[in-house]
Amino acid sequence: DARQPKYKRVMLKISGEALMGDGSYGLNPPTVARIAQEVKSVHDMGVEICMVIGGGNIFRGLAGSAQGMERTTADYMGMLATVMNALAMQSALEELGVYTRVISAIPMDQVCEPYIRRRAVRHLEKKRVCIFAAGTGNPYFTTDTAATLRANEMACEAIFKGTKVDGVYDKDPKKFDDAKRYDVVSYDEALAKRLGVMDASAIALARDNNMPIIVFSLDEPGGFKGILAGQGTYTTVK
Ligand code: UDP
Repeated sequence: DARQPKYKRVMLKISGEALMGDGSYGLNPPTVARIAQEVKSVHDMGVEICMVIGGGNIFRGLAGSAQGMERTTADYMGMLATVMNALAMQSALEELGVYTRVISAIPMDQVCEPYIRRRAVRHLEKKRVCIFAAGTGNPYFTTDTAATLRANEMACEAIFKGTKVDGVYDKDPKKFDDAKRYDVVSYDEALAKRLGVMDASAIALARDNNMPIIVFSLDEPGGFKGILAGQGTYTTVK
């Protein structure tokens, strides 16, 4: 059946910046609502969904340490930023009637659940969207690595990385007219050519566990649903 989704359980990774809309900082509620609608339309297909949202729209550890802050402290601030984004996404999804859990790598019981792997798996089986917050819980990592780690732990079939462009290009397609999009690219080529799919630790972790990364545009309305049905343009890193 062509209408059957190809996937049963997936990880959706978006950067914090995806929630800014046209702004340059923080959260743009209509943008959060639009992305929540994308997630709902895939959830409606019966796909089990994990999400990781970055924190770059609020705070990045590297930026803090460049201004003289201690790196680990700055990274904890970055991780806390991802919790705020996760709560905003939770609110937008529940507004649409989708049940969710925010699950944090750093326990903060009054705010959200702590990460307990078996419990998270159970939530997915019960069709709750699991939003994994606070990254890996460790400084010096990124939310791309967190997404890859949780995708492995949750036995997702693939990581869907929603970006501003419809895949991975050999150079920046917003700057160069002759930039070429890859349909498929190997982990090793993505690493060797520093194609900017994800950071190197995340790509290596995906490679070592044969976890495909599908890079697609989140700006296309209905894009996420189409990609899950195998339509539209995207790049598979595998
Ligand atoms: N971070 C961290 N450990 C993690 C995940 C994130 O220390 O496991 C911190 C890090 O400082 C990072 C910030 O949280 O800069 C925000 O995450 P990220 O830069 O991945 O967000 P994105 O670029 O996806 O918005």
